[in-house]
Amino acid sequence: MHSHPEAADTLIIGAQLYDGTGAPPVERDVAIRDGRIVAIGNLSNWLAEDVMEAEGRALAPGFIDVHTHDDTHVSRSPQMLPKITQGVTTVIVGNCGISASPVALKGDPPDPMNLLGERDAFQYPTFADYVKAVNAARPSVNVGALIGHTALRNNHMDRLDRAATPQEIEGMRAQLEEALANGALGLSSGLAYGSAFAAPTEEVMALAAAGALYTTHMRTEFDAILDAMDEAFRVGRHARDGGDLASEMRGAVELGTQREVLKSIEGARRMQPIGCDCYLYNRSSSTLDLKQVTGDIDITVTWSEPHPEMAGKLVKDIAAEWGVTQQEAAQRLQPAGAVYHNMSEDDVRRILSHPATMVGSDGLPNDPLPHPRLWGALSARARPLCAGRRFAAARRGGAQDDEPVRATLRSGAARRGAHRLITPTSCCSTRRKCATRRPSSSRNRPPTASTRFGSTAC
Ligand SMILES: [Zn+2]
Repeated sequence: MHSHPEAADTLIIGAQLYDGTGAPPVERDVAIRDGRIVAIGNLSNWLAEDVMEAEGRALAPGFIDVHTHDDTHVSRSPQMLPKITQGVTTVIVGNCGISASPVALKGDPPDPMNLLGERDAFQYPTFADYVKAVNAARPSVNVGALIGHTALRNNHMDRLDRAATPQEIEGMRAQLEEALANGALGLSSGLAYGSAFAAPTEEVMALAAAGALYTTHMRTEFDAILDAMDEAFRVGRHARDGGDLASEMRGAVELGTQREVLKSIEGARRMQPIGCDCYLYNRSSSTLDLKQVTGDIDITVTWSEPHPEMAGKLVKDIAAEWGVTQQEAAQRLQPAGAVYHNMSEDDVRRILSHPATMVGSDGLPNDPLPHPRLWGALSARARPLCAGRRFAAARRGGAQDDEPVRATLRSGAARRGAHRLITPTSCCSTRRKCATRRPSSSRNRPPTASTRFGSTAC
């Protein structure tokens, strides 16, 4: 007896299917009807108008970019091309202590809130206002939002170079709780920045106690990184009482301390859920930080308010042109953005392959000369890494080593639970699937002479 064929709009045949749990891929067919997956398996008896022969290419759920600064971008550019073009279907905004809401500015946004846009970009005095705006814009990606500690500080404090008073903390906590009640995922901090550095651990703990996810751009990524990590773990443990928790750490680390950093993460992971995010580049980007202008590394200026003509040049070349020290040149350029040439690709790979690591772009969509991580963190850079590893694996006669692909897939789906990220925010729109091509390039860049690695340095 012949069974009736099932019908779908799209059939993807013969794909290597990654399910996002970190498990090895399996060969499967996938049927899509009305924009949703309706069957997975051997679907040779199915019919569809659009049949795609995957020919062994990788097929995965849409990626989650766990570290973005797309807060205002999801409304201003709802096509979200930098993300959709690399298979990202969910972005987590509000990282590093800076969020577009709840924000009521008294003047220009302080550093680094200015990464999200100029004063007129901050139009959401409550998180509910933000959700409404995102829903109205209908971006092509799902949006999960963190609330920035620095944004809260700026709402309630007259100056940011001091600790908050108990009354100010109370005000911040009330705003955070309102946001959580309206679907925000948790609290983020950016303690490395001048606008939050003066906040003692207890201030952050008092907010984290509202009970939610806690993520941080740690207080330092240099000599005292282990102390900064302990601080992050401590705040994270405090947040746990109230519910879900993951401490996220991003850091550039001296090569010598790398082993201890990984050991510290592994030790803490036995006690509490911890994850970190990383991107596949050996350069970081943020605002131009005077503390990092030491002459040890090259720094490219991406924008400068007083000297826009210097965008794209190295600080050392600008200093030479002006006949001043690099520190003085950096001061004259403020406020400004920068790309730091500060990591080793070997170290980036080592961090990337750690099971605690997810890929996050840390992309800066408002930067006139954005670091390429904005467009390539989750896809373009995975190709050469995958290709090199597959080649090596084939020579050993072993199974394909697809850790970069799996790390990309760990970008939230399995580790954090996509359901948990998306459901409570209620600011999601179209969900899409994506197919990533099996990598074909074998380009493999040599590590730089730099001794720092990293995950992201916001
Ligand atoms: Zn960041």
